[in-house]
Amino acid sequence: MKLSKRIQEIKPSPTLAITMKANAMKAAGHDVIGFGAGEPDFDTPRYIKEAAVKAIEEGFTKYTPVAGIDELKDAIIDKLARDQGIKYNRSEICVSCGAKHTLYNLAQVLFEEGDEVIIPSPYWVSYIDIVKLAGATPVVVPTKEEEGFRLSPSSLLAAISERTKGIIINSPSNPTGSVYSREELKGLAEILVKSDLVVISDDIYEKILYDGLKFSSIAQVHPAMKEKTVIVNGVSKAYAMTGWRIGYAAGPEWIIQAVTKLQSQNTSNPTSIAQKAAVAALQGDQGEVEKMVQEFERRRNYICEALNSVPGFRCPKPQGAFYVFPNVEGVFGWAPKGRVINNSSDLAGYLLDEVGVAVVPGADFGDDRYLRFSYATSIDLIEKGVARIKQALS
Ligand code: PMP
Ligand code: GLU
Repeated sequence: MKLSKRIQEIKPSPTLAITMKANAMKAAGHDVIGFGAGEPDFDTPRYIKEAAVKAIEEGFTKYTPVAGIDELKDAIIDKLARDQGIKYNRSEICVSCGAKHTLYNLAQVLFEEGDEVIIPSPYWVSYIDIVKLAGATPVVVPTKEEEGFRLSPSSLLAAISERTKGIIINSPSNPTGSVYSREELKGLAEILVKSDLVVISDDIYEKILYDGLKFSSIAQVHPAMKEKTVIVNGVSKAYAMTGWRIGYAAGPEWIIQAVTKLQSQNTSNPTSIAQKAAVAALQGDQGEVEKMVQEFERRRNYICEALNSVPGFRCPKPQGAFYVFPNVEGVFGWAPKGRVINNSSDLAGYLLDEVGVAVVPGADFGDDRYLRFSYATSIDLIEKGVARIKQALS
């Protein structure tokens, strides 16, 4: 008996693994400060919880249509019209159990053996394994810190081969927090509209933007892009609803119907109760989201300044999401407490063991010269965590 080749070729999600490890250490009585989890520390807003309670009380606890209830599809259609200015029909929307599930479903229906999928790096950890699980080959295209970690049209063009089937664009980005401007997306779109690629636009951090920036999705920057793009989004990040597991895809009907067929053979449908909560989230008072974003912006300002004061660290100031991605090459070659640090994993391991600070190594996101910190935690803990890092490296 043995496991499939498919499962042997992927690794467990490193972001989840580090979060679990930090939580287990905390439970065992260790004093750990976690910058690992990419999850808002706020509670889900009350009006959303109330919608879920109401759904339970009213007995809305049965299977639903595979691609989600019409009420939620309509709330998503309204949201996409309002925010992106794009009109979708119900047959172009499929709701799944989180944006990660949406991405997994999409890869399964779009990609196969022999296909290449372009993934700009630094990338979110799961893109690589999701593409591999579909049998396809991830083609990692590095971006530069000096260029704001954004893919240039020339790098995109150079990465496209006869085998390229798709590309994943993520703005605001996990892990760098970089955000593409409308003009930059247009530059990429001009190449993509002439190609046969499917574009997966992971817009999950859409609402978490700073410095008064406006969000654009690549689907909205060129009239021909809607037909080439699947927008992936969800309620996890904007509404502090990570545990509710609601994500969705909006895109061409032929792709969405394939995703729906696949979903009918795996989860059947996303949770009925969580779907009602997601309707409330999308249709309710968006002031709650603004409050959370204001608080994230305050923390971003604080953590960037604090990390820039750590010897050997250089922390660019991101414009979105809730991560910072400092360059830590400056400490490579050091041996604090006799422990040699030569890469991001050595440093992350040392910080956790020595001073109980959990961060994710840049290597997991495709660039070993960096560390990822999630600042979805209080200013107080950020202050303590950075002080501990300084102590560990002194
Ligand atoms: N995309 C990115 C870039 C993410 O950081 C996450 C966070 N887990 C997801 C997708 C998936 O989000 P969820 O499954 O919670 O909707
Ligand atoms: N997206 C979050 C992160 O990057 C949550 C964990 C995960 O799903 O990877 O930390």
